[in-house]
Amino acid sequence: MTSNVRVLRVCIYCNGEFIAKTAFTKYCTERCNKRHYKQRQKEKKIEESNEETTKIIQRPLIELQSKEFLSIKETCTILNLSRSTIWRMMKKDQIKYKKFRGRTIILKSDLYEMFE
Ligand SMILES: [Zn+2]
Repeated sequence: MTSNVRVLRVCIYCNGEFIAKTAFTKYCTERCNKRHYKQRQKEKKIEESNEETTKIIQRPLIELQSKEFLSIKETCTILNLSRSTIWRMMKKDQIKYKKFRGRTIILKSDLYEMFE
């Protein structure tokens, strides 16, 4: 008889009990090992993708912090309102705006005043 160690363990992927040959074996089968690896790779990718998305969302906000003159689109982003809501508020004089060379400009300081 060989002196193989046999330990009852629980697979960290499928939670199934199995007899391991070493105390370090984590998976009942090669298949569970591979599946768990794939799963972790997938989770890692999703996490990376989410981080990337967060960066993309935050980038314009950081740029907007230093701007004093805003377009309608930028105002939407800052106030987290839709374009049509901004238009409606402009028509009702709830948001001050100026036309400058055919473009609509909203002063950030005017937005601050709205909340005073
Ligand atoms: Zn397993």
